[in-house]
Amino acid sequence: MPTVLAALPVRLDPPPRLLCGPGPSNVAPPVLAAMQRPMLGHLDPGYHGILDDVTAMLRAAFGARDGLAIALQATGSSGMEAALSNLLEPGDTTIVAVNGFFGRRMAAMARRHGAQVVEVEAGWGEAVSNDALLAAHDRHPRARLIGVVHGETSTGVEHPLAELGAALRDRDTDTLLLADCVTTLGGVALDVAEWNVDVAYSCTQKCLGAPPGLSPLVVSERAMARVRARTVPVPFSLDLQLLEAYWVTRPTTYHHTAPVLMVYALHEALRLVLQEGLAERWRRHEDAGAHLRRALAHRGLSLIADPDHQLAPLAAVHVPDGVDGRRVQERMLREHGIEIGGGLGPQAPPMWRIGLMGENATTEIADRVTAALDAVLE
Ligand code: PLP
Repeated sequence: MPTVLAALPVRLDPPPRLLCGPGPSNVAPPVLAAMQRPMLGHLDPGYHGILDDVTAMLRAAFGARDGLAIALQATGSSGMEAALSNLLEPGDTTIVAVNGFFGRRMAAMARRHGAQVVEVEAGWGEAVSNDALLAAHDRHPRARLIGVVHGETSTGVEHPLAELGAALRDRDTDTLLLADCVTTLGGVALDVAEWNVDVAYSCTQKCLGAPPGLSPLVVSERAMARVRARTVPVPFSLDLQLLEAYWVTRPTTYHHTAPVLMVYALHEALRLVLQEGLAERWRRHEDAGAHLRRALAHRGLSLIADPDHQLAPLAAVHVPDGVDGRRVQERMLREHGIEIGGGLGPQAPPMWRIGLMGENATTEIADRVTAALDAVLE
């Protein structure tokens, strides 16, 4: 028997929100408008030009000079999975920096792909020290990969990625460097070629200011050579060689039906990033984040992250003793239409995570968030 609905749901009418949590952030209006442009088929020659533009703009945004630059047809986690599944084969050793929820996820994913994972840990709010990662590399010089989270969204910590890349370059090693740039692309200084990062992935819904749905990914030529040499096949939908054939070499090849409107959105989001200028955009995120952190300190609220490694677009704030953090989040949403995040994962201490990303990285938005927080905490 077919299921019969008692009543058809009414047409969607979601409430307006100011999205100041760990992501998604609000979508820039021109990006939303781009999604209303005429739909093309994914094998249309007109669409190929769009893919070429996206590739060129992704290279510019990541600072990639060679290799592959694509946007995977799923969210940031798929970028993590694509990187690990293409670069690791069962039995390979990989070193992973774990100082929060996403580093832990990277280690867990690498294990699922059969890797021997060496975790190098740091506590909540600390950065994993590059010395500790390099010491692990001394013990495991044949490790295939070192994976780090550039912006650990669960704690608001930025990893000193440039220094790690430089140290690995000095070692002249075959070990590749993988960076999770989900919370940093378009909001925090990043230059993968200059910093010797072989593989980096991100998302669309944070500092780029597009909806969630794609995972921008860059892979150096050196890393692609590793992918081409592997012997164990990769899951079909994440296979970088098939994706390269689809995006670059033979764009008329069918691999998947591309999320065309999301690609339009990313196209416009990247255009806006580059129009603003990377350095200007990074500075805007830094200024807004610093303004927010000063306002929080003024209210006696302390942060989880070591100030020397504070991530600009995200502040993880200790919930003061005696305050019900979840209730504050609920009231911020209900009474002020502002979303802020809470702690992620069972080990997280009570916290609020306030993100000023993309469109929302302004001092005015920071002031709106702190004013609403004042009203709720009164
Ligand atoms: N890595 C980091 C640092 C993140 O913050 C997130 C999501 O917030 C992810 C990976 C996973 O991305 P997604 O939720 O788009 O799959």
